[in-house]
Amino acid sequence: MQGKEYVESVLKTVKNRNKGEKEFLNAVKEVLYSLVPVVEKNPEYIKANILGRITEPERLISFSVPWVDDKGQVQVNRGFRVQFNSAIGPYKGGLRFHPSVNQSIIKFLGFEQTFKNSLTGLPIGGAKGGSDFDPKGKSDHEIMRFCQSFMAELQKHIGADLDIPAGDIGVSGREIGYLYGYYKKLTNIQTQGVLTGKGLAYGGSLGRTQATGYGLIYFLEEMLQDHNESIQEKTIIVSGSGNVAIYAMEKATQLGAKVIACSDSNGYIVDENGIQLDVVKKIKEVKRGRIKEYLDYVPAAKYVEGCKGIWTTKCDIALPCATQGEIDTQSAQTLVDNGVIAVAEGANMPSSLEAIDLFQKNNILFGPAKAANAGGVATSALEMSQNSMRLSWSFEEVDEKLKGIMKNIYATAKNTAEEYIVSDNLVMGANIAGFVKVADAMLAQGI
Ligand code: GLU
Repeated sequence: MQGKEYVESVLKTVKNRNKGEKEFLNAVKEVLYSLVPVVEKNPEYIKANILGRITEPERLISFSVPWVDDKGQVQVNRGFRVQFNSAIGPYKGGLRFHPSVNQSIIKFLGFEQTFKNSLTGLPIGGAKGGSDFDPKGKSDHEIMRFCQSFMAELQKHIGADLDIPAGDIGVSGREIGYLYGYYKKLTNIQTQGVLTGKGLAYGGSLGRTQATGYGLIYFLEEMLQDHNESIQEKTIIVSGSGNVAIYAMEKATQLGAKVIACSDSNGYIVDENGIQLDVVKKIKEVKRGRIKEYLDYVPAAKYVEGCKGIWTTKCDIALPCATQGEIDTQSAQTLVDNGVIAVAEGANMPSSLEAIDLFQKNNILFGPAKAANAGGVATSALEMSQNSMRLSWSFEEVDEKLKGIMKNIYATAKNTAEEYIVSDNLVMGANIAGFVKVADAMLAQGI
């Protein structure tokens, strides 16, 4: 069978097996088509049906999460953990608490995570989990009770040498703390390496909080430098105002860029004088408030209802750091018309396939999520190393390692694209490089 024919036949099976799972099917389609040149070159991947196997999660766990709200009313949510692929190391990936979470979204994220983790060069397999629980507006006690109920089931499936969850949207230091505390109570096992993103006092790593955002900017810098550009004095818009967005804004500003807009799910702010990050941190990290409150501190800024409009703000660089599907063809076209030179993805799959196509056709530098935002999970792997050694590295040591990893990811994606398809298409380069390592490990380990 030829490469294209094989890819088509695998896609057909995946579509039949995962009917209606839009996000997952999109992610699989995007990756599989980019792998045609690889399977063409390596017929043993076809014989061992690597694509058929890599698109089927090794294990998918779905469970109910009952919890009691502050009024004494019992609520129930749905929890998931997908252990997608363990060919190169224990399952690793975040937990997302957001009302949009469903099986399709968790599977798409777990699938992407497999390639992303492989690209970091570190020995971690792919996983993801979460719940349709909405943390917005919940009290600390409600969050704690929810996390405890979630962990009551999750603890049966995780372990420092098996599956190591971390944060994602709606899960940060507070939630990881509650999850970790309850894991210890239930299991009586004192392994710090079972979760990453922990607080510094109990096995967390310096630099983990900043890692995804800082890593995104290190990747962007590499991409710009490679094209004789620099981040200095560029205007940047960043969607979102969570962990990834905040630390991307921080590093970009430190390196001399001007961040002029950011958003949350209600709307976006534009501050032509440069976003005041201490204000955003106070609103989002301390008060857990809405981005609109920025105007209480900086009345000269502008607030616009609705988050999609942020892409109409003129800028040199756009960093989607909110969530999947936030840049459609129309927003991509507006960015191009307004003269954007680079787009790098801090969120997972924020640009539609058509939007990516449009960026590439217009020669916009494009850093795909699985390469550009891999700094978070890479630093989680550094946290695991420190936990195993029972010591902690300084912030500078972690940051230096993160920089090296991001440089290496850029070079790997670029060189792989040049090797397989004679182009500098980083989307294909990242997919292929991430895939080959996992595929070779699968081949070596037999059926
Ligand atoms: N949720 C992050 C991601 O999408 C980090 C996962 C981790 O640290 O395990 O890569």
